[in-house]
Amino acid sequence: MAKSSPFLQRSAGVLRACERRYDRLRRRLARVDYLAVGTVTVSRLPCGNPDCRCRRGARFRHGPYHYWTTKVAGKTVSKLLKPDEARLYLRWIANRRRLDRTVRAMLEVSRDVAAVLLSRSDAFIPGR
Ligand SMILES: [Zn+2]
Repeated sequence: MAKSSPFLQRSAGVLRACERRYDRLRRRLARVDYLAVGTVTVSRLPCGNPDCRCRRGARFRHGPYHYWTTKVAGKTVSKLLKPDEARLYLRWIANRRRLDRTVRAMLEVSRDVAAVLLSRSDAFIPGR
């Protein structure tokens, strides 16, 4: 029986590792919950009353106020959120970021697999 070359053995090992990693990412992808675009920022603001305690410093300001911000047709749009809206969007935006990280990791693994499958010096492997 012919012994496979060290290169082929190493390639098979890399592919198995990639498959395991990709399976984990696939399962993570399947668990993704609802998503939202944009970001939520928190700010504390002074009011218009010059005698108000909020004028004594940043920690006395009113709030916290949560603002949701995103781009719509190239323009930045902001909206003041109620507390329940802020909680929901913070959670859904965190979900979207997790999804983005998962997709980026899947692209990385895919590039590694392409590099093994197309192990020629002239192979086209995007993002490498
Ligand atoms: Zn005030």
